[in-house]
Amino acid sequence: MSHRGAFLFFQAFFLRGDNTVSHDSSCLFCKIVEHRIPAKLVHSDEMAVAFEDINPQAPTHILIVPKKHIPDIQNMKEGDQELIGHLFFVARNLAELQGLDAGGYRLVINNGRDAGQAVFHIHLHLLSGRAFAWPPG
Ligand code: AMP
Ligand code: ZN
Repeated sequence: MSHRGAFLFFQAFFLRGDNTVSHDSSCLFCKIVEHRIPAKLVHSDEMAVAFEDINPQAPTHILIVPKKHIPDIQNMKEGDQELIGHLFFVARNLAELQGLDAGGYRLVINNGRDAGQAVFHIHLHLLSGRAFAWPPG
């Protein structure tokens, strides 16, 4: 591959419009975004994917994940507003499609160690199909 070809390949796969590196080859959810490991996808668009959680905590447990690698809320950058807002629109649309809006649903972001974040690529949990306690554990 020529230098220019290699650059275009790099640009296509590792850079987004804002010219920030947005991919981490060791990240579990980046691997799912890139179809390098399987997941039960329920939605995909240019900004985000959604798939079933492998260890569901409710009858419906979907993870909504931006394609861009952002480790956590503290690492959001100016310009990420639309992307993060988009996750909530995907949740709204999935809830409508799957009839979750009648009984309700819970949206959760675990941010950081004490909140129980295990995968450091921002994701929105969409949980539904049972009643949830408050306050959370
Ligand atoms: P959190 O604790 O908020 O970081 O949530 C991480 C979630 O990812 C947990 O609910 C896990 O069950 C889920 N998870 C981990 N590995 C996979 C996978 N390969 N496919 C789908 N969900 C996963
Ligand atoms: Zn990632």
